[in-house]
Amino acid sequence: MTATAHALIGGAIAASVPNPALGITLSAISHPIADLVPHWDFGIGWKKKSKVILLLQSSADLSLGVGLTFLLFGNATDPLYLLACIFMSESWDILQMPYLLFNWKFPPFSTFYKFGHETNGKAKMPWGIVTQVASVTGLVLALRFIH
Ligand SMILES: [Zn+2]
Repeated sequence: MTATAHALIGGAIAASVPNPALGITLSAISHPIADLVPHWDFGIGWKKKSKVILLLQSSADLSLGVGLTFLLFGNATDPLYLLACIFMSESWDILQMPYLLFNWKFPPFSTFYKFGHETNGKAKMPWGIVTQVASVTGLVLALRFIH
């Protein structure tokens, strides 16, 4: 999924799970599960993109995600805990970036790349965004409800 979607999922977990050990673990686990949903993100077609464009798009996506998450959940929990959950929920993709950007085709970067490549559900626009908005909104509402 986009970094924005992963950040919001991590944020929703931080805001609803008071126990940091549990929340941080759940945020890490949320990444591969969320990626099973067919989606579009900036990594799709990365081989045909220049590294600079890929880096700029990924950074913009991540910044937007962190900004939106703090806007929505910044008052709900400790900011450091919120940041830790965002980071853990992004970590699987962050660990692929050296493979994509610097051709570091060795573990652990190649491992995370291969895992992502094989488990990511892909969908074209606009459905690839609609599925993310729907699943993130659904999860945020569900977590609010049980909280
Ligand atoms: Zn991912």
